[in-house]
Order: sequence, then structure tokens, then C-alpha cells
Amino acid sequence: IDFEHCGFPEVLNHNLKQSGYEVPTPVQMQMIPVGLLGRDILASADTGSGKTAAFLLPVIIQAVFENKTPCALILTPTRELAVQIERQAKELMRGLPRMKTVLLVGGLPLPPQLHRLRQHVKIIIATPGRLLDIIKQGSVALSGIKVVIVDEADTMLKMGFQQQVLDILENVPNDCQTMLVSATIPASIEQLAGQLLHNPVRITT
Ligand code: AMP
Repeated sequence: IDFEHCGFPEVLNHNLKQSGYEVPTPVQMQMIPVGLLGRDILASADTGSGKTAAFLLPVIIQAVFENKTPCALILTPTRELAVQIERQAKELMRGLPRMKTVLLVGGLPLPPQLHRLRQHVKIIIATPGRLLDIIKQGSVALSGIKVVIVDEADTMLKMGFQQQVLDILENVPNDCQTMLVSATIPASIEQLAGQLLHNPVRITT
């Protein structure tokens, strides 16, 4: 199977081809259809597996058809990872109208991030500390969020972000779709998954 036969919007097929993506990786093959069905996911996938596009493609396709802003939230442990995710998202979304993203990450000035946030962005890509600060000061409404990604969940726990992630997800609607992606699935991740996911589909590669 290749991306051309997945029934994606034509622009997306074009962008995938431009980026040299022709055949889905194993994690993409499993995650994209399940993600598009709206199911919660617990995926074990390492860097280099194509995991970023595996969650970005269902997120982007859902966001195209969603008017609420913001409608998707991607949490990742570090600024560098957030920047990489946004770069890949922008590449995949070239030519798609009304698909703005915002980076809400620590270590960079807050005012430009808040300014960008007010421009009807569809997708938030955030690190936990900065997003929680913004939530606490009442500068973001997450009531329109339909899909949440917790990326590199094992790194999140190692960096001590568990409580912050839980606090953030208190602010998204209860019925939103959640995908948790982690290199490994130790007991601590199983426990977090138990708290965050509803009847998840498990994906291993
Ligand atoms: P990731 O595992 O998400 O960090 O992705 C690793 C690298 O593989 C990134 O540079 C992606 O752009 C690239 N990549 C992801 N999916 C594909 C694909 N289906 N075909 C070719 N390259 C890909």
C-alpha cells in the first residue's frame, strides 16, 4: 500500500510526495486508520519510526474539517521536539487553508506566543510547563479541543511532567480523542494510560 491510495485530500498526497513519503512506515500503517476512526491509542514507537507523521496525519485530516480553534493539542517534553513537530506539520499542511499552528514552549518569550494564539490557530504544539502557565493565566480556552497527543510520554515522566500533563488534560473536553506515544511502555506508562485513555487500541512496532 502507498499513501496515494489512502483517500487523503489531494493537497496532502502532493505534500507527502514532495517530502519523499511514498510508503507508510509500520507505525503509520497501524496508527493512521485507527486515529482517523477517533479511537484512543496507546502506541509504542521510537524516534525514527515515523511516529510524528503517524499522529500528525490523523490530526491534520480531522483539523481540516473542524471549525473550532484550537481543535488539536500536541504535548511534547522539549522545545526542540516541539519545533520539529511544527516543522513537519507545516510541511504536510502546505497549501491547506486555515491551518495555523502555534508553539507554546518554555525558553522563548511569552507575548509573541500569546499573540499567535489569538489568530485562530487550529493546532497547539506545547511543552507542559508553558502551556500550564498560559492556562492558569486564563489566556487559552481548550474547550474546542477534539484530539490530544501526548508524545514521548516516557520522557515526560522522566522529566517529572506527569502532574502537569494531568492538570492540562483536566482542561480539555472529556470526550476528546487521546493518543499516547512512548518509546517504551513500562508500568508507569500503563498507569498514565489508564488515567488518560478510554478503551485504547494498542499499537506496537
Ligand atoms: P520520526 O520517527 O517521526 O522522528 O520520523 C523520522 C523521519 O522519517 C522524519 O525525518 C520523517 O520526515 C521521516 N518519515 C516519516 N514517515 C516517512 C515515510 N512514510 N516515508 C519516508 N520518510 C518518512
